[in-house]
Amino acid sequence: MNLHQGTVRLTLIYLLAAGLWVLFSDALLPSLDLSAERTAQVQLLKGLSFVLLSSLLLYLILRSHVRQQARMRRTLRASEGRLNLALESAKEGLWDWDLRSDKVFFSAGYAALLGLQPAALGNTRAHWRQRLLPDDLAHYEKTIATIRDNASQEAFELTLRMRHQNGDYRWIQSRGQLQLDVQGRPERIIGTASDISQRRANEHSLRQAAAVFDATQDGVLVTDSNQQIVHVNPAFSRITGYSPEEVIGRQPSLLSSGRHDQAFYQRLWHALVARGNWSGEIWNRRKNGEIYPQWQRIRAIHDEAGELSHYVAVFSDISELKRSQSELDHLAHHDPLSGLPNRLLFTERVDNALKRAKSEQQGAVLLIDLDHFKHINESLGHNIGDLLLKAVAGRLAAQLGEGMTLARLGGDEFGLLSENCLDAAQAASLAQLLLSSLGAPFNLDNHEFYMSASIGISLFPGDAENLEQVLRNADSALSKAKGSGREGYAFYTQELTEFARHRIDLISALHHALDHQELRVYYQPLHDMASGELIGAEALVRWQHPQRGLVAPGEFIPVAEDSGLIGAIDAWVLQQACRQMVRWQTQAQAPRFVAVNVSSRLFSRGGLDLQVARVLADTGLDPACLELEVTESAVMDNPDAALALLDRLRALGVRLAIDDFGTGYSSLARLKRLPVHKLKLDISFVRGLPYDSDDVAITRAVVALGHSLDLKVLAEGIERPEQMEFLRQIGCDYGQGYLFGRPQPVEANPEPAVAAP
Ligand code: C2E
Ligand code: MG
Ligand code: MG
Repeated sequence: MNLHQGTVRLTLIYLLAAGLWVLFSDALLPSLDLSAERTAQVQLLKGLSFVLLSSLLLYLILRSHVRQQARMRRTLRASEGRLNLALESAKEGLWDWDLRSDKVFFSAGYAALLGLQPAALGNTRAHWRQRLLPDDLAHYEKTIATIRDNASQEAFELTLRMRHQNGDYRWIQSRGQLQLDVQGRPERIIGTASDISQRRANEHSLRQAAAVFDATQDGVLVTDSNQQIVHVNPAFSRITGYSPEEVIGRQPSLLSSGRHDQAFYQRLWHALVARGNWSGEIWNRRKNGEIYPQWQRIRAIHDEAGELSHYVAVFSDISELKRSQSELDHLAHHDPLSGLPNRLLFTERVDNALKRAKSEQQGAVLLIDLDHFKHINESLGHNIGDLLLKAVAGRLAAQLGEGMTLARLGGDEFGLLSENCLDAAQAASLAQLLLSSLGAPFNLDNHEFYMSASIGISLFPGDAENLEQVLRNADSALSKAKGSGREGYAFYTQELTEFARHRIDLISALHHALDHQELRVYYQPLHDMASGELIGAEALVRWQHPQRGLVAPGEFIPVAEDSGLIGAIDAWVLQQACRQMVRWQTQAQAPRFVAVNVSSRLFSRGGLDLQVARVLADTGLDPACLELEVTESAVMDNPDAALALLDRLRALGVRLAIDDFGTGYSSLARLKRLPVHKLKLDISFVRGLPYDSDDVAITRAVVALGHSLDLKVLAEGIERPEQMEFLRQIGCDYGQGYLFGRPQPVEANPEPAVAAP
């Protein structure tokens, strides 16, 4: 434009000057009437000045043009610089693809996006394509083809992955536009490019964060710095029952349960301000009004300038957890079968009651043990046993008054704590009440049972000061109740403690007795009832105590059984008896066999057959000359193991007898299967013969039963001739008792046989 105006201006000046000059020369010169020579000179001057003027004009035009050009170049350079600067600062590159020559120009900025030197990309697409991720090639080709084919001049965007010089692929986004030539044909495509890898990564992690926010099981609540809710996630709505619309813009206090005091929230805010976070258990209220526990973490969020911008609270509903905790707690403290408190809870309660008792009131602990419950389990199975225990628990529980705890302590043992002021009389009537509640028969699974119990009572704080003492005392009292015939109750007394102490002394004295050969074996004859002939001798242990004299087995065998000493005692007696039998065999009128008692403890422990075999081998005694006596309860307490053991003993060739028959709970079905030879009718049934009708009936029945099972029957404790007479009449095979002879040491009577009466 400047060039044009300048040229026009110069040309006008020139035309004006030339016009004036022509006017002057052509109009004025003739009037001057100059000579031909002068005219020629003027004409020459006119020509020269014309040339001069034209040259001047030309010079001015050229100069103006050159200046104009320089100015344009400067302007162009400046704007190109600005463009590059803009692209550079935006970290963008420029590309220009001439569609006709298929040459591409890549700016230095473009090369820099890929970590390359300015010219490193060359000017062909082939070169550029080598850096394109092959997976993206199809997309690129398709986009370009669409633009070219449609001659579309709309701006387009194309994001491709290009390999950076360091080997990574970068997301390069190009924005371009097609340019058409004058005929409207595609001429070039020009565009910019930028690396959007970081942006994409950010977007990706944002998308992930959003997905986590939506999908997490934890409730999330975001407030602004004024504690107005700005955001909640779906789990928040699920847990609280509030939709986002109902809470956004409101304060979180709308969720509070009212269960925490002001001080609680003060501590929470203090932690948030001081440390920027808080976590802990908090009770909130759901929309439906239900109060529930949450585990909550709250965090203060600050912006880049360090200003508090938001609070984020993440919480989980821990009501299920709490519930299972309390279920676990219940399980740990209750018996699953009866639902009653278990030993742990019972002892805790007794302990607490004891602490209280010291200051104000007294109470009682009753230990209740079912009599012979074991037999129910064994004969009818554990299912019936369990049903019975439940029924017993129900009946006992029905007797409970205020301040009482009934617990199942294990097996068939129950405990009752009464915290109310109790004297012995009250405790006794409580025990009586419990016993009579069990009086009526139990009907379970088409079976009818009678079940009795024994109860041991300990009063506190009178009898005991601490938990262990109370329980131990009640236990001693229970043993006393059991010992005195069951189905009754007994109190703990000082004598019981002395009895327990006596037992302890007895145990150590028994150890001493074994070490110092204070035990003796006495032998009692066994006779044939019909012929009166001596058939055998029973070995019965005695303790020759240095101070107390001769001690009967009834006094020390139970203690020996409880303390485990019975094994050594029985082994010793067995050996002595076998040796003695071998000695007798060398004498005239020798008994045919020696009978040895075997404790039920050894019977259930196993290994008895090996021990017997060893003693037989050591002494050389014929197994047929040894009879082992096992009690009825030893066999019936563990019938399967007993049967196996008896079979093994029988296989050794020894004879087997069931002692004290009639006092246990024999199952006839089992009795039939036992490989025994003899039943020894217990002394308690012989005592009343022949006058007591019950004893008569039982004795007859046992003899008949034994014979029907092909067993011999021996009656124990025959003291009077009429007893013997009766037994002889009903066909009892053998007898034993003071009438035939008392147990004697061998030394006193080297031939144990005593004359038949
Ligand atoms: P048991 O095996 O039933 O022995 C019979 C018991 O009756 C013996 O008592 C015997 O002295 C007693 N007796 C015998 N005839 C009469 C009588 O006419 N009238 C009365 N009132 N009693 C009579 P002892 O010797 O006191 O033994 C008691 C129990 O001790 C035995 O009963 C037996 O079970 C156990 N015992 C004895 N010695 C041993 C042993 O070496 N090992 C084991 N494990 N137990 C033994
Ligand atoms: Mg015996
Ligand atoms: Mg007996």
